[in-house]
This record gives sequence, C-alpha cells and structure tokens, in this order.
Amino acid sequence: MLKRTMNTHHPTQLTEKALEIHDRLQQVYGEHSWRQDTDPLSELVNTILSQNTNDLNRDQAFAQLREKFPTWEAVRDAPVADLIEAIRPAGLAPSKGPRIKAALERITEEVGALSLDFLRDLPLEEARSWLLSLDGVGPKTAAIVLLFSLGRPAFPVDTHIHRVTRRLGLIPAGASREKAHKLLEDLLPPAYYYPFHIEIITHGRQICAARAPRCEVCPLRELCHAYQQRSNRETNP
Ligand code: SF4
Repeated sequence: MLKRTMNTHHPTQLTEKALEIHDRLQQVYGEHSWRQDTDPLSELVNTILSQNTNDLNRDQAFAQLREKFPTWEAVRDAPVADLIEAIRPAGLAPSKGPRIKAALERITEEVGALSLDFLRDLPLEEARSWLLSLDGVGPKTAAIVLLFSLGRPAFPVDTHIHRVTRRLGLIPAGASREKAHKLLEDLLPPAYYYPFHIEIITHGRQICAARAPRCEVCPLRELCHAYQQRSNRETNP
C-alpha cells in the first residue's frame, strides 16, 4: 500500500480527489506496485506495433517478428520488406516497419550498441525528448517506455485514461490527449503514476466504457463530474 506523501507534493483539492479515486479503485482492482517487466527496446518496438490496433494483433506481430529475427541486430539489418511482412498482423505495417528499423539504426548510431539503458541516467525531460525525436514516437509511447521499462516517472495517457479522467473532472473536458500527459503528471505524486495508470485503464475497460458507462455499479459516482452533471440535469430539467 502506498503511503501518502502529500507534504512533498503541495496538495490541492484535485490531487486529493485523484488520490481518493486511487484508494477506491485499488479496493476494487487490487494493488499494483511499480514493476519494470520488459526491456526498453522490446517495450519501444511493442508500443510502436500497438499503435492503432488491439493487444492481440500487436502480440501476434511481435511474436512473428521475434520468431523471424531473434535478435534486435537482425531486425535492424533486415530488408524493410521482410520486416513489413513479419509485422503485418499489427496493421499499418508499411509505416511501422520502417519506423522500427529507423529507430534501431538511430540507437546504434548514437549509442554504439542496441540499448536504451542510457535513458535511465539522463534527466527525465531529456530522456523524454530523445524518445520523442524518434519517428513514430509520440507522448504516449515515450511515457510507456519510460514508466514500464526504465522505471522513470512518466504518465502514459491512452484512450481509456483520456476519457475516464475527463469524465471524472481530473482534467478539463477540452484537454487533448497530448496535454493530458503533463496535466496528470502534475496532478499526481510520481509514486502513484504506475498504479493509477493501471487502475484507470482497467476501470475504463470494465466499467467506464466509451459508449455505455455502467455508472450504476461505479464506485466513483459521487466523485465523478460527468455523473454529477447528469444527475443535476435530471433533478433540475
Ligand atoms: S460514474 Fe459513470 S462516467 Fe463517472 S467514472 Fe463511473 S462509470 Fe465513468
């Protein structure tokens, strides 16, 4: 269980609300402690593959890629047409294949080896900017690599997190997904990024669905801006 460290984070009402949401969701979905369970290169390639597709297609493409090219050096040096063929299940293969190859070539050029470990020691914003400078890497991909494989405090915002945090009123209704990264990073103490990310995605998948949120079973009703607005409209039509 995370111990609250509000004294180091200048508590605001909105931060208090986010931490209350975390407490409630943790009770429903269980505890998630910060884990780095992938190597950074796999995470980068996996996240590029996952753009605009589902987990199943991404996993199939990643497995096919690794089966055909067992090392990252082999992926980097493969003819781009073969890469495109290997990752076809992920969709958009003609864009994703060259991006993966270009990223691996650039890493080799700049680092002298196929490794992203140097990003562990850079100041966070430099590490983020470096990742963002790769073709096909946006704020979500950069934050995923930083958080899940490098243990750096970044908050990735996917479609579920963008939708649910806007409905809850944690970020403004008009905030873009790109802006939401910074807004949520400023809102939460870094130790909460990992569990909050997992909890909100799970909540978005299981209860706060895009088309038909199941508010009647949601433990966040009285904290939810969208729900309160709807209730007010129904009481005072
Ligand atoms: S009350 Fe409804 S809209 Fe609000 S978080 Fe829960 S499911 Fe989503």
